[in-house]
Amino acid sequence: MASTLALHGGEPIRTRPFPAWPAAAATDSATDAATDSTETELLDVLTSGRWGSTHGTRVTAFEEDFARYQQAAHCVCVCNGTLALVAALRAAGVGIGDEVVVPPYTFIASAAAVTFVGAVPVFADVQPDTHLLDPVAAEAAITPRTRAVMPVHIAGRPCDMDAFTALGRTHGIAVIEDAAQAHGAEWRGRRVGAIADLGTFSFQSSKNMSAGEGGAVVTNDDGLADRLYSLANVGRVRGGGWYQHEHLGYNLRLTEFQAAVLAGQLRDHPDQQHRRESNATLLGSLLGELDGVWLPSTDPSVTAHGRHLFLVRLPALGAVGRRDAFVRALAAEGIPCSSGYVGLHRNAALRAEIANLTKRLDLPSTEPFVPVTDRLASDTVWLPQPTMLGTPEDVHDIAVAFEKVLAQAATL
Ligand SMILES: *Cc1c(COP(=O)(O)O)cnc(C)c1O
Repeated sequence: MASTLALHGGEPIRTRPFPAWPAAAATDSATDAATDSTETELLDVLTSGRWGSTHGTRVTAFEEDFARYQQAAHCVCVCNGTLALVAALRAAGVGIGDEVVVPPYTFIASAAAVTFVGAVPVFADVQPDTHLLDPVAAEAAITPRTRAVMPVHIAGRPCDMDAFTALGRTHGIAVIEDAAQAHGAEWRGRRVGAIADLGTFSFQSSKNMSAGEGGAVVTNDDGLADRLYSLANVGRVRGGGWYQHEHLGYNLRLTEFQAAVLAGQLRDHPDQQHRRESNATLLGSLLGELDGVWLPSTDPSVTAHGRHLFLVRLPALGAVGRRDAFVRALAAEGIPCSSGYVGLHRNAALRAEIANLTKRLDLPSTEPFVPVTDRLASDTVWLPQPTMLGTPEDVHDIAVAFEKVLAQAATL
């Protein structure tokens, strides 16, 4: 006799919380006892009076360290991942009336940023076994107006960057990696972000490296880096005067407080990724045993997964509209989880803005056909990254809870 679901008043599998996130960097890391704690560094900024990056050195130092971490020649920090995308699009020359191919299975910022520069997001479908933009579908969506394509490394899993780099070259369009979820991720040994032309990151609270808010753009191209600097610094140029505005630019700067937090986040990231990776591997092997559970395919080209989300598909439950009920039942068992994205092609605000842009610019508009996204949006369960930051016992609890809820799915 199976134990009663917590949703129906039974005992939950666990009541202990998973590790808290965001988490300040370890006070005295075993690897570097001389390192200051985040608290000390924040107080340092406070008492120094150098709060902004134009007067301090911490943002610049972090930009150099983060560029090195992502194996990029340049990094320009900005205030969040959404505006990192706007800056990357602008730097790549994307503007009014251009089209940008984006996946619909992503955070709304990926497509909204395209509209913010007056360009039209064109949705191409994702792959059912990776949740990532399908390079074949992306190529089919290219028109003479296409100026860029945006592979989004959802969950921290890198897109097929061989295919997207080739696509960019063949069609003469920019490739902008949305790596908001993919700090430290690698495609065939190369860290994401600067594999193609430009890549963007987010340091928002939920992300695997966080300062509450924050973002970055990386590139290997010196010219693009200069443009990014100018876009983020009201049109100034490196080494130029304070009132020397060579271009029009935003103020997208990060503060020294955020850089002080991020320095510690960067130090802790390798150890945390190691823990997330080993827990994700264990979770995959446990959940792989359960009937009705589909896990993303493995790919030897993914030499490091960013592990921002652990994605699980439940196709049978999804097909009968029971995925959300499953998520409620799993959450009641003490497992943090969610249903994740609704396809962006169904977001009313985005649809209205795309209709508005295409009408005002007299551009053709086509109804997106993205059936895989609809299927994934109805049958995928997300486990957020803190569920992978604990112990193997925590991972076993997740698997036990899945098994318990799946066994009684008919009662949901
Ligand atoms: C978080 C996120 C963003 C936006 O980053 P913010 O810092 O929240 O503005 C963009 N794209 C993806 C895929 C994200 O997950």
